[in-house]
Amino acid sequence: MHVAIVGAGPAGSSAATFLARAGAKVTLLERAHFPRDKVCGDGLTPRSLWMLEELGLVARDAGPPAGGQAISRVYLASPGGVVVKAPMPAHVFGGRSAVVPRELLDQQLVQLATKAGATLREGVMVEGLALDEGGVTVSVRGGEPVRADVVLGCDGAPSVVRKALGAPDFPDEDAAFAVRVYYEGLSLSHPDAYAIFWEGELLPAYGWIFPLPNGRANVGVGLRTDRMRKAGLKLPELLDRFCAMPRASAELAGGQRVGRVRGHHLPFGTFARHLVWDRCLLLGDAAGFINPLTGEGIEFALESGKLAAETLVDAEGAGGFSRAHLAPYERRCSERFTHAFRQNGKLQRVFEHPRLIDNLMRSANRSQRVLDDLASVLLGEAPRVGPRLVAAVALGV
Ligand SMILES: Cc1cc2nc3c(=O)[nH]c(=O)nc-3n(C[C@H](O)[C@H](O)[C@H](O)COP(=O)(O)OP(=O)(O)OC[C@H]3O[C@@H](n4cnc5c(N)ncnc54)[C@H](O)[C@@H]3O)c2cc1C
Repeated sequence: MHVAIVGAGPAGSSAATFLARAGAKVTLLERAHFPRDKVCGDGLTPRSLWMLEELGLVARDAGPPAGGQAISRVYLASPGGVVVKAPMPAHVFGGRSAVVPRELLDQQLVQLATKAGATLREGVMVEGLALDEGGVTVSVRGGEPVRADVVLGCDGAPSVVRKALGAPDFPDEDAAFAVRVYYEGLSLSHPDAYAIFWEGELLPAYGWIFPLPNGRANVGVGLRTDRMRKAGLKLPELLDRFCAMPRASAELAGGQRVGRVRGHHLPFGTFARHLVWDRCLLLGDAAGFINPLTGEGIEFALESGKLAAETLVDAEGAGGFSRAHLAPYERRCSERFTHAFRQNGKLQRVFEHPRLIDNLMRSANRSQRVLDDLASVLLGEAPRVGPRLVAAVALGV
């Protein structure tokens, strides 16, 4: 089978690697040239590290990917000043985490794909698709079209493939906007921790400081798109306000910004229902595989690459790439993450109320089991919320 993959981010490179290893002919079409930047918080959760191990990019007992900072703890600060400092939860994929600039991570991932046998074509802007009974034709700006048996839409948000297939845009309430900037010259109080801040004055936005090696950090804020529009907020200004608040400014004191503030959309898994067409699948952000509570999507992009590859190998064995042949992809994604996304979408409302966040953090400090539940939920691992977490939110017990 010949698979054309549009976009060589984590989803595209992961799918390309698994497919090439399974013997498929793979063409990766990427509009940029590597190394290229991608606006992100650069945080790799334990689930991302687990997927990087599956791909063979990092060894199980080795450090983070090249250029990254190992993360062993979380530092969560609530509006009322409750702070949770805890080790990364070992029960969630072994608890290994890291922060790696996407400029470095994505290059390593694409090299893995080409090493596995995928052909990378850089500087290729895909403009559309045409399906017929024999295959798919991918049109490319200023170049020859690419003919393949199947196309994987891994072109992020917004996605040309998604649009060409006629899938609806993400509604504002199922999407966020986030901005980030790099700092250098920092002496962070927790240089090995993901620091997340819910400031009462900035809610429902939240801010993060994710440490990088050599006194650098990725600093950003994010917010649901409908809330942003309703309040008429400009996120670069919100980032400035976050950086000037007492807790963040204490961390950032003495540091300088490097480069400019950049932002991007985040489509949420609460609206991830349009995944499968004849001869086409959507993966990663193009499908909306982002945890609506945390904005994390790298792990789901990587894992959707694995699930898509497994589905295509099975479909080839079953004799075709029709929508019916490819339908198991939807089931696989649902079992692994979209179900949890929908639940997290409901929980997102908790993180808009200062008192409820305070309750939850207070309770997580008192009870290891609440802390474990919170970690599972935040990492998109819990398919349902148990009574213990509900009591923690409602009553702080
Ligand atoms: C500010 C911000 C902070 C974030 N922080 C985190 C975090 O800390 N941790 C986390 O896990 N996730 C985070 N995310 C989400 C994460 O960035 C995405 O979920 C992830 O990048 C999705 O990977 P992907 O491969 O699906 O898409 P992308 O990484 O967007 O890759 C898509 C690729 O397709 C290419 N492409 C696009 N259009 C075309 C075209 N027409 N033709 C050819 N190529 C094309 C692009 O150049 C790109 O290389 C954050 C997002 C934002 C915006």
